[in-house]
Amino acid sequence: MSPPLDVLIVGAGPAGLGAALALDTIDNLTFGIVDRGAVGQTFLDWPDQQKFLTPSFTSNGFAGVDLNAIHPSTSPAHSLGTDYPTGVEYATYLRGVVRHFALPVLENTDVHSVTRYDSPDGGGYVASTSRGPVPTRAVIWASGEFRNPSTPHIPGAELTTHSSTPDAWAPHDGHVIVLGGYESGLDIAQHHIARGNGVTVLDGHHPWEDHAADPSFSLSARTRRSLRHALASRRLTLVPANARTVVHDRTTGRYTVTTDDGVRLSADSPPIAATGFDDNLGPVENMFTRTGGGWPELDDTDQSTISPGLYLSGPAVRHDDLKFCFIYKFRGRSAHVARAIGARLGCDSRALDLWQDAGMLLDDLTCCGTACSC
Ligand SMILES: Cc1cc2nc3c(=O)[nH]c(=O)nc-3n(C[C@H](O)[C@H](O)[C@H](O)COP(=O)(O)OP(=O)(O)OC[C@H]3O[C@@H](n4cnc5c(N)ncnc54)[C@H](O)[C@@H]3O)c2cc1C
Repeated sequence: MSPPLDVLIVGAGPAGLGAALALDTIDNLTFGIVDRGAVGQTFLDWPDQQKFLTPSFTSNGFAGVDLNAIHPSTSPAHSLGTDYPTGVEYATYLRGVVRHFALPVLENTDVHSVTRYDSPDGGGYVASTSRGPVPTRAVIWASGEFRNPSTPHIPGAELTTHSSTPDAWAPHDGHVIVLGGYESGLDIAQHHIARGNGVTVLDGHHPWEDHAADPSFSLSARTRRSLRHALASRRLTLVPANARTVVHDRTTGRYTVTTDDGVRLSADSPPIAATGFDDNLGPVENMFTRTGGGWPELDDTDQSTISPGLYLSGPAVRHDDLKFCFIYKFRGRSAHVARAIGARLGCDSRALDLWQDAGMLLDDLTCCGTACSC
C-alpha cells in the first residue's frame, strides 16, 4: 500500500470540495477527494426543473461572500450569470472550482468501507474503494443525503414517487397529491399548478404557517412567493393532516390517499412524496453515535466522538438547535475542521485567517442562530 494521505475526503459535492479548498491552504498537508460519481454528482442528478432556494449574488469583497460559494474568492452568480442556479449549473460552478484550484479529485471511486488501524504514529484509517485500498490519517465524510430519499412510514408508501426523481416533475394528468408541505413539496406543487393541474398538499405540521426566521425551520422567501402565486390560482389546497395510507385500484388505475382525520383524496397518478432525505451515513454509520435527537454526535470540531480522526461535513452536521443544512451554513465549518486537522498534524494553518476575515470560518457557534426583528 502507498504511504497514507494526511486526509481523505469522501464526496465531491459542496461539503467535500469546501473542505478540500480549506485544507489546500495548509502547507505540507497531503489530501485527496474521491467520489463514486462525478464532481457535483448530486446536482447533476437533480430533475431539470429544480432550482436553488438560496439566491446567488456577487457580494464578495463587501463583508459577505455569495451565499452559495464554497471559497471566499468565488461566486456562482459571477461564474454562471444566474441567481437561482439549476443543479446542472451549480455542478458547472463546482467543476470550475476544481479546475481553477487544481483539486486532486478521483471520480468514479466508490468507498465501500472505512476501517481503523493503529500504529505508533497515531494510526488512521484504510478506505476500501472500488479502485483499491487508500490509507489515510484522517477522513472527512461528505457523502450528502441525496442518495437516500425518505418516504413516509405508512402502508402504500412504495406506491408514491419521490420528489427528487424526474417522474415527479413529468407532466401529470388531472389532480396531483403531494405528501409533505415544506420546501420541496410546495416547490413541486407550484410546478404542477403552473402546468395547469390542481394540487392538494398534505402535511400535519402545516409548515406553510410557520414564520420562524431561520430557513432551516421555515419556508424560504422564494417558496413563500411561489406559495402566494399558487394560492392566487385557486388550484392549490393545503391540508393540515398527514397521509395514513395510499392505495392503488388496479381496475380504475386511481390512487387513493386517506388522511389522519379520515378524509379520502384520489388522483390518476401516484402521489408525490416530498418527504426529504434520510441522513444515514452509509459505510461509516456505525463509526458515529447518535444524539437523543437522532443526529450524528460530534465534538466541537465536527469529529466523531467514538472514531478519532473521522470528521463529518455537510447537511447532517448539527450542534444542539443549530442545523447546518444549507451550503451557506455548513461551508463555515470547512475551515474550522481544516484548522483542527492542521493543528492535530502540526501544520501551519494561518492562511485560513483569510477565510475567517471573509466570514467563512465558523468556530464560535454562540454567534449563530437566526432571529430577525423585522
Ligand atoms: C431540491 C433541493 C434543493 C436544494 N436547494 C438548496 C439551496 O437552495 N441552497 C442550499 O444551500 N442547499 C440546497 N439544498 C441542499 C443541498 O443540495 C445539500 O445540502 C448539498 O447538496 C449537500 O452537499 P454535500 O456536499 O454534503 O452532498 P452532495 O452534494 O450530495 O455530495 C455528496 C457526494 O458524495 C458522493 N458519495 C456519496 N457516497 C459516496 C461513497 N460511499 N463513496 C464515494 N462517493 C460518495 C456522491 O456521489 C456525491 O457527489 C437543496 C437540496 C435539494 C434536494
